[in-house]
Amino acid sequence: MDLTFTNRFTKELPADSLTTNGSRQVNRACFSRIHPTPTSAPSMIATSIEVATDLGIENDLESDEFLQVMTGNLVTNDMDPYAACYGGHQFGNWAGQLGDGRAIALGEVLTPSGTYQTLQLKGAGPTPYSRGADGFAVLRSSIREFLCSEAMFHLGVPTTRALSLALTGDEVVRDVLYDGNPAPEPGAVVCRVAPSFTRFGSFELFPSRGELDELRQLLDFTIRTDFPHLGEPSPETYVAWYQEVSRLTADLMINWMRVGFVHGVMNTDNLSVLGLTIDYGPYGWVDNYDPGWTPNTTDRTQSRYRFGAQPQVAQWNLAQLGNAILPLLDSTEPLEAVLSDYVSYYQKHFRSMMAAKFGLTTWSPADGSSITDDGGPLDSLIHGLNSVMAMAETDMTIFYRVLADIPTSARLEPDEQLVERVNDAFYVEEQINAKFIMGMSIWIRAYLDAAHETELDDEVRSAAMNQVNPKYVLRNYLAQLAIDKSTEGDHSLIHQLHEVLRRPYEEQPEAEEFAVKRPDWARNRVGCSQLSCSS
Ligand code: AMP
Ligand code: MG
Repeated sequence: MDLTFTNRFTKELPADSLTTNGSRQVNRACFSRIHPTPTSAPSMIATSIEVATDLGIENDLESDEFLQVMTGNLVTNDMDPYAACYGGHQFGNWAGQLGDGRAIALGEVLTPSGTYQTLQLKGAGPTPYSRGADGFAVLRSSIREFLCSEAMFHLGVPTTRALSLALTGDEVVRDVLYDGNPAPEPGAVVCRVAPSFTRFGSFELFPSRGELDELRQLLDFTIRTDFPHLGEPSPETYVAWYQEVSRLTADLMINWMRVGFVHGVMNTDNLSVLGLTIDYGPYGWVDNYDPGWTPNTTDRTQSRYRFGAQPQVAQWNLAQLGNAILPLLDSTEPLEAVLSDYVSYYQKHFRSMMAAKFGLTTWSPADGSSITDDGGPLDSLIHGLNSVMAMAETDMTIFYRVLADIPTSARLEPDEQLVERVNDAFYVEEQINAKFIMGMSIWIRAYLDAAHETELDDEVRSAAMNQVNPKYVLRNYLAQLAIDKSTEGDHSLIHQLHEVLRRPYEEQPEAEEFAVKRPDWARNRVGCSQLSCSS
């Protein structure tokens, strides 16, 4: 396997002086050198050909060397494996040192196209940051990470990638429901790939310990490697960097809101400074549109990380990142300016995103107002849809696809007929009562009036909408079905979903079964709508 390891992170940043894996506090260091734990009987379940091609190892996927490297059994001389040290705020509280408790990076490679990518094994065994846990990962959470990272990439949502998913042949004991019933489960490893895995929390730990030299070293390194276009590090560059992280984060939130993704654990250690979706744990996809929904059972009472709160939470996390780098700046003002820019930038781009979902990007309202106006005609449509969707459970993904099919001429249809056109999106028949039909038909007509004002042909509008509104997403129950089968030794559904989710915006008539509403049996099933952090 021909990989060119460059390992800038471990070459240039301060290392832990110890190389043992016992849980401990690690001071004045960005990482600890640590080897993956060998696995007893590894077998490959799935690989991503696109990621392998980017790395220039597309012809190695079947090789034994690939299998051994991706499951922790082979560390070559040019690798420099390590676990990163970071801290973070968990559910709003400072949690101190966290770090890679079960992720071990093999090193950084320079790809044939000239980009840098770090390869990281998740579930590779204990590290100094395992905090009493075992450092391993189970098959179910590894399937979820593999499939979702790849699905997100093909949806056009920034994300860490997944190169491979393998069984280790070893068992891992987990108490899935935290109810005192631990049971053995198959262990697995995912090889994740990203330009870097640096998190907001990577910057928070140093100032909490007064380690300002290390804080500066990490920030300077991050700017030189991940943000070279910002120029040489200086206080001005730090602010420019913070601004860029803020906008990348806003873009990420807009993408999550567009496709209906709920991360589930937006702690500051789970936010990438590159604006990538990172750490797929108890995430979920909204089936019926509900801004108050969270898949994470650990967060059910507070719902801090619910779907609709993600953009605000991201801003709160950015504030923590700002606090972390503050000791390197002369004043708080530029950081405060970035935080308020986050709001205006988010709102502006959220509106553009919604205009695209509606196929209304070229709409000039007849009254002369602009669609980007705060409280303008687009906002009325958005709010109107929110209120009507609150009246009857409506599948978000299906709704936008059927909306795209309605011709503007349908404005003249009677209420019932008009609402019938989006009927596929509704979950509960009894909720489709007279009041709802009136509200929904009023909204659809207002929408079609707007679409009419764009003067676009129906087909043109529909095609544009179908490029931003996916037909196929990794519905929670689909991932669970793949997990159930795979646990019995049949990995075919993983491969099938992986393949379908490569083209999420295209009609795939042979894959229609993966585009339907969540079935009733999945409504309250563990793994389908409720996920714990156990992984
Ligand atoms: P998370 O909320 O899953 O991102 O994890 C929070 C912290 O717990 C991170 O430091 C993880 O590395 C660590 N962690 C999670 N699961 C395990 C595990 N099975 N073994 C060791 N550390 C873990
Ligand atoms: Mg994490």
